[in-house]
Amino acid sequence: MIETSSNMGFGSKKIAVIGGGLGGMAFVNAALYAGLENIQLYEQAPEFTEVGAGVNITKNANVVLDAYGLKEAMREKSSHEPPFYMQYRNYKTGEVFGQIDEFGFPATRQIHRAHLLDVMRNRVPGSILNTGKRLAAIERSKSNKEYILKFQDGTTATADIIIGCDGIKSAVRAHLGFADQPNYSGQMVYRGYVEYSDLSPEADLELRKTVIYRGKQRHVLTLPIGNDLSKTSRVGVIGFMTEPLEDWVSESWMAKAPVDKLAEQVEGWAPTVQEIIAGLRKNAARDGNDLILKQALYVRDPIPKWYKVEDSQPGSGIILVGDSAHSTLPHQGQGACMAIESGVALATILKNWKSDDLESAFSFYQTIRKPRTDKITKTSYEAGKLASADTPELTSETFNPDALRERMKWIMDYDVLKDVYEQGVPYFETSTTQVQAQL
Ligand SMILES: Cc1cc2nc3c(=O)[nH]c(=O)nc-3n(C[C@H](O)[C@H](O)[C@H](O)COP(=O)(O)OP(=O)(O)OC[C@H]3O[C@@H](n4cnc5c(N)ncnc54)[C@H](O)[C@@H]3O)c2cc1C
Repeated sequence: MIETSSNMGFGSKKIAVIGGGLGGMAFVNAALYAGLENIQLYEQAPEFTEVGAGVNITKNANVVLDAYGLKEAMREKSSHEPPFYMQYRNYKTGEVFGQIDEFGFPATRQIHRAHLLDVMRNRVPGSILNTGKRLAAIERSKSNKEYILKFQDGTTATADIIIGCDGIKSAVRAHLGFADQPNYSGQMVYRGYVEYSDLSPEADLELRKTVIYRGKQRHVLTLPIGNDLSKTSRVGVIGFMTEPLEDWVSESWMAKAPVDKLAEQVEGWAPTVQEIIAGLRKNAARDGNDLILKQALYVRDPIPKWYKVEDSQPGSGIILVGDSAHSTLPHQGQGACMAIESGVALATILKNWKSDDLESAFSFYQTIRKPRTDKITKTSYEAGKLASADTPELTSETFNPDALRERMKWIMDYDVLKDVYEQGVPYFETSTTQVQAQL
């Protein structure tokens, strides 16, 4: 934890974090790192879990997690310096179009989502974490001094500041007055794992990297998750398939579908893709079925304001972090990375703000974060179009290794803590400059 003076900022405010996914857990880590101690997290699920899939955490977010001291714990369960950031292959021949080199250190880490959640949860005192708490309503107390959080189980809690980390379907966001609906992206994603032991030596070698098999309006992405030392290495598979929403029969966005549904859409693709399908079938059979995860991919348009402050109580307000504020399509692997960045930005600002004007602190957070997250949301949409192309066999001015690397470089080369401290100089306590010197 960084040592700062305790008389400044909003360090004494009672903070409630709603949602204990990757965004909420990242915010609590950020809060502890910054020195916000009066904090409670409320998660609706009976335990902290993540969907059974892998996640790509890139340099810009790893810089933050490493600053928390999580580097070793994360690397215990993640990949170690894969040979490239990304390799692109022709869907039919498997021929390499090109590859993007890594962006320097800390390099991208691929890890099971549940392992990443555990790494962050393990450093949070249990007294802060509350499960089985589904937020049902937010009201003001009779004195109008604080919020009353009402949970579905009939219990309540109080808070001065509410941080909505409750994902793309956020209930907290609705309290900011936004009634917008998420938009269907046009693609379904199929997610599962393949064991390296189920692959031929050739396919094993090919899938030790992050690979995109680029097909017509669809693509298959593979991530080399985990590492052999901790016996966590597996191939994470994500098939992005263009399908009409009308065919979606599940009431929830996330469901399971037979492997066949993916297999029939990649029929005739490269031999490694066929090995991937066979591997998915073997894994499903180990669970006694033929199913993999299927999810309708949604995204929201950016909103103009991520927060509100109570007129009658200017030290009390609600603000968003993660998918609730800036959901994105996953084509640049940045949703969780942005949540990690936003978490540390907000926690640092709340701790170090030199006035008691919460509105200005929230506004500064949004000024720091929104231009970047809006741009990532836009470029992620474009990246999806490039990966699921109309003419997948062709390279172009925008689809070639140099152009693709350039697309990602600005995202990777960003250091959110440096940005916050540099732009925060006029607003932070002077002792914060000592903090900056520690970075
Ligand atoms: C196919 C796919 C691949 C992706 N790959 C990557 C990748 O490689 N890299 C990357 O950085 N990002 C990736 N992402 C994006 C990433 O998964 C999300 O951005 C990230 O999980 C968002 O985290 P969050 O905590 O904001 O939201 P969520 O993960 O949605 O978590 C919200 C939490 O809030 C809880 N909650 C909801 N409502 C309530 C309530 N009323 N009361 C209490 N709790 C509540 C939920 O139970 C949940 O635990 C991918 C996404 C998809 C769909």
